[in-house]
Amino acid sequence: MIAWFVVVVLGLVVGSFVNVVIWRVPRRESVVLPGSYCPHCGTRLSPRDLVPVFSYLALKGKCRYCREPIAWEYPVVEITNVLLYLLLYAHFGFSLQLWLFGAFFSGLLALAFIDLHHGILPNRLTILGIAVGLLWGGAVDLLRVWGRAPASLTFNLGTYVAEFSILAAGLGALVGGAVVLLVVVISRGGMGLGDVKLNAMIGAFLGWRAALYNLFVAALLGSVVAIVLLMTGKKGRKDAIPFGPYLALGAIILTLYRG
Ligand SMILES: [Zn+2]
Repeated sequence: MIAWFVVVVLGLVVGSFVNVVIWRVPRRESVVLPGSYCPHCGTRLSPRDLVPVFSYLALKGKCRYCREPIAWEYPVVEITNVLLYLLLYAHFGFSLQLWLFGAFFSGLLALAFIDLHHGILPNRLTILGIAVGLLWGGAVDLLRVWGRAPASLTFNLGTYVAEFSILAAGLGALVGGAVVLLVVVISRGGMGLGDVKLNAMIGAFLGWRAALYNLFVAALLGSVVAIVLLMTGKKGRKDAIPFGPYLALGAIILTLYRG
């Protein structure tokens, strides 16, 4: 019971930070300083304004100072992050996987929303993600050599997810990046180099099989959503629809999928 509570609180706190990343990274602002501010009036927010979800509800979705509406996206991102953490906890319990994939999922969540808003996938996040995946693989290799790799590291991994190692991460990043690069070269548009680096990051965490399949899962998800958007008239045939969110969602599905 305590464990669930800890996971929910952690999910809310990190989800709140994901919102900061979504707002600031594409604007090239520091994610640490200064403290959070209202995007409308610029007033620095006090701690009571920053309690995830609850502040939004207490303020009825309006800034305490200027009464401008707060984007509904903030609580949605926080709640989504909590749900992702709960799913991970259900799969892995309190293990190293929970923390590692938790960081991975939060990064994907931030990248998906940044792509939706700005049509970019910042290097600051994708390159960082690739580096973390590689470093983690290397760290696990060292633990193995040392004879201290926790058995929980191989516990209940997804059907298409590789065991962590520097080789798995490196191969995953290469294959993941290469398959998307191939599509970028062939299709000339639609997808960009940001998508290449995002799928390389996904490969660095999940290995080459998941990175390869992710292209197809993402394309399938993208087609379904595109058809719905065209049929409902929300988007025209010419509108560009960013691909990053589908790559991110595909990676989450592949991490959790048990065949
Ligand atoms: Zn304000």
